[in-house]
Amino acid sequence: MIKLSERLLAMEESATIAMSRKSRELKAEGVDVISLSLGEPDFNTPQFIKDAAFEAMNNNFTTYTPVPGYEDLREAISLKFKRDNGLDYDVNQIVVSTGAKQSIANVVMSVVNKGDEVLIPAPFWVSYIEIVKVSEGTPVIVNAGIESDFKVTPAQLAASITDKTKMIIFSTPCNPTGSVYSKEELRAMADVIKKHPHIVVICDEIYEHINFTSKHESLAQFDDVYEQVVTINGVSKAWAMTGWRLGYVGASKEIADACSKMQGQFTSAPSSISQKAAIAALKADPAILSDMINAFKERRELVLAALRTIEGIDINVPEGAFYAFPDVSYFYGKKFEGKPISNGSDLAMYLLNDANVALVTGEAFGDPNCIRISYAASADTLTEAMRRVKKSLEKLV
Ligand code: PMP
Ligand code: GLU
Repeated sequence: MIKLSERLLAMEESATIAMSRKSRELKAEGVDVISLSLGEPDFNTPQFIKDAAFEAMNNNFTTYTPVPGYEDLREAISLKFKRDNGLDYDVNQIVVSTGAKQSIANVVMSVVNKGDEVLIPAPFWVSYIEIVKVSEGTPVIVNAGIESDFKVTPAQLAASITDKTKMIIFSTPCNPTGSVYSKEELRAMADVIKKHPHIVVICDEIYEHINFTSKHESLAQFDDVYEQVVTINGVSKAWAMTGWRLGYVGASKEIADACSKMQGQFTSAPSSISQKAAIAALKADPAILSDMINAFKERRELVLAALRTIEGIDINVPEGAFYAFPDVSYFYGKKFEGKPISNGSDLAMYLLNDANVALVTGEAFGDPNCIRISYAASADTLTEAMRRVKKSLEKLV
């Protein structure tokens, strides 16, 4: 009998992907499931991006590319970093990968040694923990609760750093909470980080453009931590390109070279066609995203308003991304037809079976009191989903 590796066995399946798989299976059985489980825009990739892909194929950009990505794509990313974020990343400090997920994995695999501690503020995106575990690092969770808008304080970070700390990973805007770190908050974080020059910080900015209240701020803008920070971004979310699998990193040349070496052995490079399409996306004026951002903002209002009508739910106001992360712990300990709901997983399963709405338990994101609702769906779908969720929650006694 084949025995799988301990590495694999110790790894959890991605909860977001598992839940969307479950809802797909139920749909195939004919159940009318509304899936708000996966963080995926419901818009189509804009036509001018698809056109660039057709052009790339017709011009035979269909062979292996340089491992860190085509030079013209990295030039477009370098200009994007300057234009949108005020960041100076030279072409040789940029590596393009098969999604931001691989970009993060490349960095962690390149930097973290067995036993190194990696600070992960919770709530966090599900994959951070597993990527760190596979890299034999030790995830150290720093809890930020709803009372602090789910953001860690510099004091918390400082108190969590030990001699073994090698890395910090966080996202802004945050998946799953929608929290956005202000320039002042990032500056205060930088004051802690700069005292530990051997620590690498992954700042995941994949939701950069989906920000409803303020200007996006990057941690790498501060010169005194620039060398320590790795900026992650990609085209999946803003440009509705999740299936094209293209993300990128801006980092010190040393880390960029390491990522290149790593992916040179794993995937060589992302698809040549996706790379050419991404050039069109990154050269476009982000102002054209305003309709999509406004649509997400309206949906946020719709979901928040609906959640506020349900007794017992507590919710922050997400400033970015497309998730709501309500505290639903009020319902733990209640029962449906004698069956107890003990935690977020029970509640998510109950809502899947009773309301036919797929959501993801907060446990997977490091906050067992909460549940994640992805509101990247039409207003009608969200209205119906929230109606069902409310009805099912009110049945619990
Ligand atoms: N970071 C965060 C916070 C995410 O939510 C996601 C989800 N897709 C990713 C990274 C990875 O994005 P992708 O691999 O699609 O570029
Ligand atoms: N990042 C998205 C999410 O959090 C997509 C799924 C995934 O890559 O895990 O749902």
